[in-house]
Amino acid sequence: MAAIATTYEVVIGIEVHAQLLTKSKMFCSCSKDYFGSPANSHVCPVCLALPGVLPVINRQAVEYTIMTGLALHCTIPEQAKFDRKNYHYPDLMKGYQISQYDLPLCLDGWLEVDLDGETKRIGVTRVHLEEDTARSMHRSNAAGEKYSLIDVNRSGVPLMEIVSEPDVRSAKEARLYVMKIQQILRYLGVSQANLEEGNMRCEPNVSLRPLGQEEFGSKVELKNLGSFRAVERAVQFEIERQSKLLDNGEPVEQETRGWRDDRGVTVSQRGKELAEDYRYFPEPDLPLLAIKPAYVEELRARLPELPDAKRVRIAKQYGLSPYNANLLTETGEWADYYERAVAVDPGEGDVTARRAKTIANWMLQDFAHIVNSQEATFAGLTEKVPAQQLNQLVQLIEADTISTSGAKSVFAEMVSSGKPPQQIVEEQGLTQISASDEIASMVDQVIEANPDPVADYRGGKEAAIEFLVGQVMRETRGRAKPELVQKLLQERLSSGE
Ligand code: ADP
Ligand code: MG
Ligand code: ZN
Repeated sequence: MAAIATTYEVVIGIEVHAQLLTKSKMFCSCSKDYFGSPANSHVCPVCLALPGVLPVINRQAVEYTIMTGLALHCTIPEQAKFDRKNYHYPDLMKGYQISQYDLPLCLDGWLEVDLDGETKRIGVTRVHLEEDTARSMHRSNAAGEKYSLIDVNRSGVPLMEIVSEPDVRSAKEARLYVMKIQQILRYLGVSQANLEEGNMRCEPNVSLRPLGQEEFGSKVELKNLGSFRAVERAVQFEIERQSKLLDNGEPVEQETRGWRDDRGVTVSQRGKELAEDYRYFPEPDLPLLAIKPAYVEELRARLPELPDAKRVRIAKQYGLSPYNANLLTETGEWADYYERAVAVDPGEGDVTARRAKTIANWMLQDFAHIVNSQEATFAGLTEKVPAQQLNQLVQLIEADTISTSGAKSVFAEMVSSGKPPQQIVEEQGLTQISASDEIASMVDQVIEANPDPVADYRGGKEAAIEFLVGQVMRETRGRAKPELVQKLLQERLSSGE
């Protein structure tokens, strides 16, 4: 593959569509939460496109789109317009889609992705608002005859489109871009942004050009990408397919290709219509939108802290590594929980920084393990272990009430029973034995019972002490501090006898 990198430059621009988390559809009052509902149960004359109906703009959808534009550093022009985009597909009830053509809600923004430690900025051309289509389902009957069904529930659901500049240069970068969009949309709470469920969809446009050539090659638009992994694989496949064509002196057709995840290939779906074919014209049933700057500023003030800013602040404020801060801010839920867990009792002086780090480690190791192994969702887990109780667990370790290994079993019990840590420690008698007297007698017993390892140790095999520490820990059922046990053993064993 090295030959590709030196011969051609990869050029990718990405279109992302996201359904918005409004209550109703874009131009009617039907509920847009059709997921799991019977087919054609969320419909009305407007989204069915019966004659004589008029659309009404969903204000929430406009606000969500502007908020997204602001989060992506876009300019919000003072005038926006809806247009008709005409095309004839059975799933397009009106025979046109209400979209935005030359006056979109948001223009000229960017986002940044972390590419192997380097920050790469990717331009966002525009963010606009449109409506989703109905869904065709292709079937065949017992006789093998093909037929199609149509479900109109999705028709008219608010759909936001984010179009990138052709700034993306690799399959991996394409995946990172789409992941970043998902993260931002989720932080904003404007979309579920789930590729697998189809409420977010992305279409990378891929072309190659000989290195040094200014003019773009002809592009291929990729569809049917149901996961981040599919995004990366499909783009990589397409880069390789196109480079082989170009190597052989064959042209790359401008077309739309669908990704077949099971076969790991893209297949031609249709030649791409040119933009003029859509015969865009202003939607006569809707007014121009005047977007007042003061209104935009109001929305800007309502934006939550966004992932990049939160990551930098959390690293600084709690003394975490950039890596850990990045993991903790992957979702707003993790970051919020973390900050609450620290804030309920940050401790004083030297304790503060240590406690903040220990809490982060519990989340990144123990929480992550549970969530990644799908033992529980983050929401389910944190219902059992509220932020305050994680803080308390950490304090029990700090106070030497329980050992770190004891804390692991307390934590497991917290997760399964939802009990607070102190209660578990008391019920199970897990309080760490800190009085050296009590441990000392067990140390004596273990020395007595294990003459061989004792002799080994005295004979210079220092590692033999590990075994003896283990024996004492077993006697105490893990309730002693290993460092203390080791210290007592060393004292006893070096005092001769
Ligand atoms: P279309 O009208 O075919 O949808 P657009 O001009 O709207 O094309 O661009 C769609 C997306 O394709 C944008 O993200 C844009 O950056 C990207 N794009 C345009 N030309 C190319 C190209 N030659 N190679 C790769 N991406 C491209
Ligand atoms: Mg386009
Ligand atoms: Zn409707």
